[in-house]
This record gives sequence, structure tokens and C-alpha cells, in this order.
Amino acid sequence: MTSAPRAGGALAPGSTPCPFCGTAVPLYVEAILARRPLACAGCGARLEVAEGASPAALASLDAWYQGMREAMAAAPEAEPAPKAAPDRGRRGVRGRPRG
Ligand SMILES: [Zn+2]
Repeated sequence: MTSAPRAGGALAPGSTPCPFCGTAVPLYVEAILARRPLACAGCGARLEVAEGASPAALASLDAWYQGMREAMAAAPEAEPAPKAAPDRGRRGVRGRPRG
């Protein structure tokens, strides 16, 4: 059976065929947004991200990815609430002149 390679965990909404060998190269969002070249698993070719080709697509992808990350980061207990700092310098206890 020859099925398409599955992306393991990483966000790869799509894939593009390698121009050299035709192997489907998954388009990893993180790699694309970081302008990192994608490596073809078939022939090892590096596919550079054509940044100037579709700035609108990259912008929408960036927005989508930010939303995904925020949704994933919205855990029930993300961070412990910072404790209220002790109130220093209370009213009415300023240095009185002695004596
Ligand atoms: Zn290839």
C-alpha cells in the first residue's frame, strides 16, 4: 500500500509536490512562517519559501497560526496568578518628628 506520508504532530495544512522528484512535501506552517526551506523526503532537495510570491497568503497564514497557538495555549491553568504585593508605606505611619 502506498499512501501519502502523514505528518506527525506538526501543523501541515497542505503539501506541495517536489519539483524534482514529485514527492509530496508537507508545508509546515512553522517552517513557512520562519522562512525556513522545506526539505524533500524523497530526494533531499530544499524548497525555499517564495516570500514575495504571495504576501497576502503568508499574512493570512500567519494570522491563522497565531489563532491556533492562542487556542492551544489557553489551558485551564496556564499560570498562577501573581500574588498581590504587600502594601508598603501605609497611610498614616509616616515618620513622625520625635521629641
Ligand atoms: Zn524531491
